[in-house]
Amino acid sequence: MATLRFDWESLYGELKACTKCRLCQTRNSVVVSDGDPHADIMFIGEGPGREEDEQGVPFVGAAGRLFNLHLEEAGLDRSKVYICNVVKCRPPQNRDPLPDEADACLPYLRAQIALVRPHVIVCLGRIASRYVYDRDIQISRQRGQVKKAGAFYIMPTYHPAALLRKPELTNDFVYDLLTAKKLAAKLKSGEKAEI
Ligand code: URA
Ligand code: SF4
Repeated sequence: MATLRFDWESLYGELKACTKCRLCQTRNSVVVSDGDPHADIMFIGEGPGREEDEQGVPFVGAAGRLFNLHLEEAGLDRSKVYICNVVKCRPPQNRDPLPDEADACLPYLRAQIALVRPHVIVCLGRIASRYVYDRDIQISRQRGQVKKAGAFYIMPTYHPAALLRKPELTNDFVYDLLTAKKLAAKLKSGEKAEI
């Protein structure tokens, strides 16, 4: 699917009124993003949960609070990274977004990537990794492996919600955040990245 040519204003305008998939019927908010639209690092989750749908902000529920903690641990300021999701409207009962829902919403994500132009994109969990990194992703094997795609360096890691269920994944998750931070700093300074 082609990337839509958007500026921020038209992107927000279109998103707020979007009815391109069935998720529009059950949403309270269209959850677009949080953080800095000029960030060097972009985090992509799966889709809004209940609290995100209520507040209109991504990653503000239990997984989001844990994510905030680990961002801080890695020395990353949440207000200086960009945070968004594959689908902008909450899937009922927090089910995975269906392929046709993700396909309907992906042009917005592509527009966000094109407008933010981050150095590094971190895919949080299987769903984001599947659509942005590798269709056949196996997170436990591929997490932390940076790949270059066009102008961007992309890395899959665990979803913060996975850390709620399996705290033993935390060290690897924080390690991946640190890798993303170091890589973004290197790229920003104009150095070549070795991956
Ligand atoms: N999980 C996600 O994938 N995204 C959010 O915004 C919140 C929880
Ligand atoms: Fe539109 Fe995306 Fe919401 Fe579907 S999930 S209605 S495509 S904004």
